[in-house]
Amino acid sequence: MNVATGTLDGRTALVTGGSRGIGAATAARLAAEGCAVALTYSASPDRAGKVVRGIEEAGGTAVALRADAADPGAVTAAVDDAAAALGSLDVLVNNAGVFPYGDISELTLEDYEATMAVHVRAVFVASRAALRHMGEGGRIISIGSSLVERVPAPGISLYAMSKAALVGFTKGLARDVGPRGITVSVVHPGSTDTEMNPATGEHADEERALTALGRYGRAEEIAATVAHLAGPGGAYITGTSITVDGGVTA
Ligand code: NAP
Repeated sequence: MNVATGTLDGRTALVTGGSRGIGAATAARLAAEGCAVALTYSASPDRAGKVVRGIEEAGGTAVALRADAADPGAVTAAVDDAAAALGSLDVLVNNAGVFPYGDISELTLEDYEATMAVHVRAVFVASRAALRHMGEGGRIISIGSSLVERVPAPGISLYAMSKAALVGFTKGLARDVGPRGITVSVVHPGSTDTEMNPATGEHADEERALTALGRYGRAEEIAATVAHLAGPGGAYITGTSITVDGGVTA
C-alpha cells in the first residue's frame, strides 16, 4: 500500500492526534515518503496502534505516544520522547483537534478553555519544544480550518476563533525561526470526511453544496499538502496559509 517515494527519506516527524482522520492519513503519507513518524493520541490507543502497525507493515517506522494535548507537560514530554525515539525531529504537524459547536449562549467557559487548550496552547507548547530539536530545514505545520476564512453557518464561533489564532502564530513564528532555515505554515482543510465531520453527517449535504467541486475532501488529500510542505517542495513556503477546501472559500 505505502510505496516509499523517498522525498522524505531520513527525515523524522511528530504528528499530534494521529490515531485517526487527517492525523492518521498524514502519518501514513509522511511514512510512505520515507519519514520516520511519531504520533500522539489521547483517547484511542487501539486506533493509534493500528496506524503504527499499518505503517510498519508497509515498511515504514512509527511509534505511538499517549499525550493529551490539553496537558502542556504531556505535550512537551511527547515532543522530547519523539525526538529521542526517532533520533531527531525535523517536522512537527500540529493536528489534534476537537469540534465545539453551539450558539454563544450555550457555550461555556469550560468549552472555551478546553478548545483553546487543544487548538492554541498545545500548538504553542509543542512548537516551542520542537524548536529545541530542529535545525536547518525544520518544518512546523499546523492544521487550521477553512472556517477561518468563511463561516457559512451559526454555531461555529468558538471553533473559528481558536483556529484563527493559528494564522497569527504562523506568521509571527515564521519571522522568529526563518533565520534558522525553519519554515512555519498552516493548512486550512474544508469539509473533510472523518469522524469529526462524516460525509454522511446531519449537515453533510449543506457542506457539500458550499464546495465548488460538490464533494467532501478526503483525509489523504489534506495529508498530500502537508507532505508537500514537509518535503523539498515546501522549502520556500513560510508564514502563510494554504487552503484545501474544494472551493468553499472561492
Ligand atoms: P478526528 O477524526 O476527530 O480526529 C481527531 C484526532 O485528534 C484524533 O486522532 C484524536 O485522538 C486527536 N485528539 C483529539 N483531542 C485530543 C487531545 N486532547 N489530545 C491528543 N489528541 C487529541 O478529526 P479530523 O477531522 O481528523 O481533524 C483533524 C484536524 O483537522 C483537527 O485539528 C480539526 O479541527 C481539523 N479540521 C478538520 C476538518 C474536517 O472537516 N474533518 C475541517 C477543518 C479542519 P484521540 O481519539 O486519541 O483523542
